[in-house]
Amino acid sequence: MSESIQTLLGGQWRDASGPRYQTQYPHDGSPVASLHAATAADVDEAVQAAERARKLPSWAGLKRHERAAILYRIAEGIRSRAEDLAQLQRLDNGKPVGETRMLVASAAGTFQFFAAACETWEDELTPPRGDYLTMSVHEPLGVVGAITPWNSPIASEAQKIAPALAAGCAIVVKPAEITPRMAIELARIAHQAGLPDGILSIVPGKGSIAGDALVRHPLIKRIAFTGGTEVGRGIARLAADKLMPVSLELGGKSPTIVCADADLEHAVMGVLFGIFSSSGESCIAGSRAFVHESVYQAFRERLLEGVRALRVGDPSLSSTQMGPLVSRSHRDTIERFVELGRSEGGVLLTGGARPAGPAYEHGSYYLPTVFEGLSNQARMCQEEIFGPVLALIPWRDEADLIAQCNDSVYGLASGIWTRDYKAAWRIGRALETGTVWINTYKLFSISTPFGGVKQSGVGREKGRRGILEYCAQKSFYWGLNEAPLPWAR
Ligand code: NAD
Repeated sequence: MSESIQTLLGGQWRDASGPRYQTQYPHDGSPVASLHAATAADVDEAVQAAERARKLPSWAGLKRHERAAILYRIAEGIRSRAEDLAQLQRLDNGKPVGETRMLVASAAGTFQFFAAACETWEDELTPPRGDYLTMSVHEPLGVVGAITPWNSPIASEAQKIAPALAAGCAIVVKPAEITPRMAIELARIAHQAGLPDGILSIVPGKGSIAGDALVRHPLIKRIAFTGGTEVGRGIARLAADKLMPVSLELGGKSPTIVCADADLEHAVMGVLFGIFSSSGESCIAGSRAFVHESVYQAFRERLLEGVRALRVGDPSLSSTQMGPLVSRSHRDTIERFVELGRSEGGVLLTGGARPAGPAYEHGSYYLPTVFEGLSNQARMCQEEIFGPVLALIPWRDEADLIAQCNDSVYGLASGIWTRDYKAAWRIGRALETGTVWINTYKLFSISTPFGGVKQSGVGREKGRRGILEYCAQKSFYWGLNEAPLPWAR
């Protein structure tokens, strides 16, 4: 039975004005929630309300520790509803509950981190070069917009909402059309935590309507976007016309390197986790594994054993490692990629099909899939698949390895498995990626900046400096000269 939900828009809980649509549980295709999509007029209403609300003493007048107190309460609100939120996110995008629990915990941690950053942030007293005192303060940019994808909603949204609020901005969030739930629940928690009306609005619905209207809105002073590279490029073009800053967290085709001296047990576990957790629906999925030729056979054998043992199935079970893909249409895309891999001469080692059996019949399930025999130049190794598909590529020479890893339009993340710390440093410095994991993979910390290079993105999220992304710096000169300025004399 599908639940009808409303959104928080301009300080009111209400239906948006666009057509009603339905979200589905990827496990069995059953309806989950029905809601109205936001129109450009709804976006305008949310932005105008945010612009009014951010100037009121109830927000603009708060001291930093008072803003921080609201953020701490949001963190507590998330924790107090942790299990409920984890289950809601599971229904939204089909991720196993073990994973959604971690995402919820991370969202709470994000609000706590930015609360602490907010109340301990120091403005700058810069060294004077004359008879004056100089200081530089950070002021909120104004009303900002966030646009998020469907793969890890609560974490992506927290990473944008928390620093924006910490900076003193108001924010309008456009979640992915098919996973609107987490943003709406975050807004409910924020509202209950005492965030003034209008400071946070959620505009669910289509990117081409609500997302586009948000980017174009003249009062929107910044867009924080996470999603695909092509959509990000379009947003950057519109932002250029407005001279508006953007941060773009985009796609990836991340290489994982297994060196000859790697601990193979650790490397196998790491590569499995890197590509198959979240069913590969992860921007940082380690989708190209470069394995040194001297350990290739041994690695391949152990990896395939590991793949066959993965527990694919019902995301409501804590033991499940891989749930369904987010939708049937996304599974169609993965299937097209696997066909492409075959046509490019790839040898399918495992997977390449939907799992059989009644448990999988109605869901958008796909088996973990491994190819070998593909060149790094193959489209399969160049294009982002965003699914559970791994290409194994043997390597011999380090310089050639680095050239192949970097032969990609993307530059989001990479992994290196080796016992040689000097090799790890040398290779890590040579890789054109925003993150390098050494003898681990896919670990995240809110205190460590994250983002891509090349077509994986622009700007960084997370880290204390994440607040500055939502601030404009204003510098003051305080004259200390006893005499008038000499020029006009
Ligand atoms: P997407 O680009 O299709 O959509 C992302 C968001 O943009 C959605 O909310 C969508 O409605 C909106 N959108 C679409 N068209 C728009 C437009 N014209 N104007 C404004 N907004 C628009 O991406 P997706 O399919 O939801 O997510 C998958 C992609 O996200 C993958 O490429 C993945 O790599 C990327 N991603 C990147 C990161 C990162 O941190 N680098 C994290 C997660 C996902």
